[in-house]
Amino acid sequence: MSDMVSIRGAVTARNNAEEIAEASRRLFEKILFKNGITDGDIVNVLISTTADITAFYPARAVREAGHNVALFSCQEPNISGSLKGCIRMMVTAASEHAPRSIYLNGARTLRPDITAAWSIALDGPSGAGKSTVAKLVAKELGITYLDTGALYRALGLKAIRGGVNTHDGAAVEKALASADVKLEYVGGVQHVVLDGEDVSAAIRTPEVSMAASAVSAVPFVREKLLDLQRGIAASSCVILDGRDIGTVVLPAAEFKYFLTASAEIRAKRRYEELKAKGESVTFESVLDDVNTRDKNDSTRAVAPLKKAFDATEINSDGMTAEDVAKFIVDGVKKDL
Ligand code: C5P
Repeated sequence: MSDMVSIRGAVTARNNAEEIAEASRRLFEKILFKNGITDGDIVNVLISTTADITAFYPARAVREAGHNVALFSCQEPNISGSLKGCIRMMVTAASEHAPRSIYLNGARTLRPDITAAWSIALDGPSGAGKSTVAKLVAKELGITYLDTGALYRALGLKAIRGGVNTHDGAAVEKALASADVKLEYVGGVQHVVLDGEDVSAAIRTPEVSMAASAVSAVPFVREKLLDLQRGIAASSCVILDGRDIGTVVLPAAEFKYFLTASAEIRAKRRYEELKAKGESVTFESVLDDVNTRDKNDSTRAVAPLKKAFDATEINSDGMTAEDVAKFIVDGVKKDL
């Protein structure tokens, strides 16, 4: 069901034709992408500029980028002390989603309420390289990395220790109801604390991987971890990696990426990682685990692994973790 919505956005540019054109196109296209709309959904686009934007028409840039929509430009009242070099848009369109305002670059200061704490949602299947990439991105941007899989792993570990059948939802709920899972950051490194014990190392075994995948399908488990993840994201700039960050945990995340790779490549990476740690595994068993977890994660009823409509997909076959991290960092920096 689509409703008529008006979506607001703003960006700043210096007064030269190239910058104005680039900023205008980027703002317009981001408004469309983050709101899941296309030209055909649009009724009209109102564009206003501050008086110091004189070198180029933002509307022309949108039209010349191939968008056939009704555009109207006007100049803003010249209020003293107002933000300079500002281009604002209001897009009225039919949309299935709640309107998402987009404030980019210098214009972010106009809306500190929605721009101060921003998040990057990095979702994808197991072994796609999410955690390696997320750590690199967090370091480069100086933000917090929240490895959400570690939370599910901690609960998986508790279920194993309690001898629970991890596929029995009721038993899992009973065993994990009182579990106390916390994240602590020591020197910027995430530690997972389960009932007062640091389990950061204990959760990195194939057995715990499978248990995490099984318990993560239990609605109670997802609910239990939801507030913890949202609380961390609300108070600081973070990158979260997981399966349902962009779709369920933080549907309003400012930046969303969906990282994939073929099952063979993912299994190969996991196999080498486990071997390096001295685990005795075969490639076939790791590939089997990858396929089983993919199936569990994408077919479960609650929060299945799914690309958010406004996420950018990155297939990392043939890319290094550094390549992927750079792609994300560049994308984020463009908007900040
Ligand atoms: O990412 P990682 O392999 O550490 O995750 C372990 C398991 O936890 C995954 O197979 C997945 O089933 C589950 N998980 C999840 N939602 C997340 C993160 C992990 O269901 N956000």
